[in-house]
Amino acid sequence: MSQRVVLASSNKGKVKEFSELLADQSILVVPQSDFGIPDADETGLSFVENAILKARNAAAHTGLPAIADDSGLEVDYLNGAPGIYSARYAGEHGGSDANNRKLLEALDGVDEAQRTARFQCLLVFLRHADDPTPLICQGTWEGRILNAPQGEAGFGYDPLFYVPGEGCSAAELAAERKNSMSHRGQALQCLLAKLRQVG
Ligand code: IMP
Repeated sequence: MSQRVVLASSNKGKVKEFSELLADQSILVVPQSDFGIPDADETGLSFVENAILKARNAAAHTGLPAIADDSGLEVDYLNGAPGIYSARYAGEHGGSDANNRKLLEALDGVDEAQRTARFQCLLVFLRHADDPTPLICQGTWEGRILNAPQGEAGFGYDPLFYVPGEGCSAAELAAERKNSMSHRGQALQCLLAKLRQVG
């Protein structure tokens, strides 16, 4: 029988990717929106702190084990911004289009060599809300920021994230291809290996 695990995210793009990535595992991912859980306040100053806050909130409200990821884009020319503020870069209600416009403006006139960036994903698994030893995994995906959006797939900053090894943006990759190499895909493979170890 599948183990039910609550996914501490309301982000449709992330929920879709996690469901695809975990489809073959004996884990049934239930998004926290199915329980009507309020989002946790992301008051941490690092990805890992925010991921733990989100997982603890979801586990406390459901009594289920919880997975949370905190992820974002680090742009070298911007000293790592938008970083943990990636979702709200253009303001709390800005959304992806506004975030992408703001990023393009911040990099206006910056040449290709200086547009290096990476996605980070910190993934946390809590067996229960008071779990003192969370399983923690990190995935990193290197690329650079394009001068204009390309592609329709994915979500968030994908249309601006050029993947050198693929010769296209993350939004031009098929979902399976993105999942096989992305920061989230890498962190999840690491987490699955750890879960297998602890049984
Ligand atoms: P979080 O929900 O606080 O972890 O915010 C993560 C934000 O980082 C998302 O809303 C996106 O803006 C960005 N992000 C994270 N992962 C990806 C990805 O795979 N593609 C595009 N943008 C991403």
